Amino acid sequence: LDERLLPIEEPEADFPETPPGGVSLTVRGLTKAFGSHAVLQGVDLHVRSGEFLSVIGKSGSGKSTLLRILAGLDEPNSGDVLFDSLPRAHSSHVARLMFQEPRLLPWARVIDNVEVGLGDRRYEAGAERHALAKLAAVGLESRARDWPSVLSGGQKQRVALARALASRPNVLALDEPLGALDALTRMDMQTLVEQVWQEQGFTAVLVTHDVTEAIVLGDRVVLIEDGVVTLELDVDLPRPRRRGSPEIAALEEQV
Ligand code: ADP
Ligand code: MG
Repeated sequence: LDERLLPIEEPEADFPETPPGGVSLTVRGLTKAFGSHAVLQGVDLHVRSGEFLSVIGKSGSGKSTLLRILAGLDEPNSGDVLFDSLPRAHSSHVARLMFQEPRLLPWARVIDNVEVGLGDRRYEAGAERHALAKLAAVGLESRARDWPSVLSGGQKQRVALARALASRPNVLALDEPLGALDALTRMDMQTLVEQVWQEQGFTAVLVTHDVTEAIVLGDRVVLIEDGVVTLELDVDLPRPRRRGSPEIAALEEQV
């Protein structure tokens, strides 16, 4: 028997199509200083599994610092971050951060940029199919072979979202990801973010400058001032009715 004639056996692909679901997020007494500059001064938060939390606050109030710590890109000076009651470092749950700039690799095609989200698993069988499914989820399957440079700003952010989704996050932290987009693209992207959140079930923490966006997307809105949470607001309105509703205008007055 000539072994060269046998079909090459592909390793078992293991990229489940089932949504990853969320994880509850507890932040207790979080502090972070840069030198003598105390940025976070005891942040307490609890986000339910699958909840959508919006975070607002002035520039420099520590929102990005908080998200970086949630995503494991920075360490706090003190305090705890728990995923489903387990310290973040001991948890197998995945947290990802999406930035204001898409941060795509310019020398890699769109599909390869999405596969970056898989980390080392991008070399496994089924990785490309998985990445294509995520591109389809953001409406860009037909652009898989394009270079990032030919895409619009909104499309680049969609690719960045697909890359984040490829890692099957249980927590998705979004650091003003729509801040650089024009108003109409921004509305489309808000709808898309809401849609993938509903499909995938991850716990979302969105930092935004835009109070309306915070209220339209959030189950809850928190305000960070001087390194602590100073206001929490439940948004009890049904989602389809939020945009442009008088209730939203009333909530905007409160924050
Ligand atoms: P926000 O996202 O709310 O605008 P940041 O979390 O980015 O705020 O920053 C909060 C403060 O911490 C700012 O004054 C910023 O200059 C400072 N800061 C953030 N990261 C660093 C760093 N790596 N080194 C020194 N200072 C930093
Ligand atoms: Mg920031």
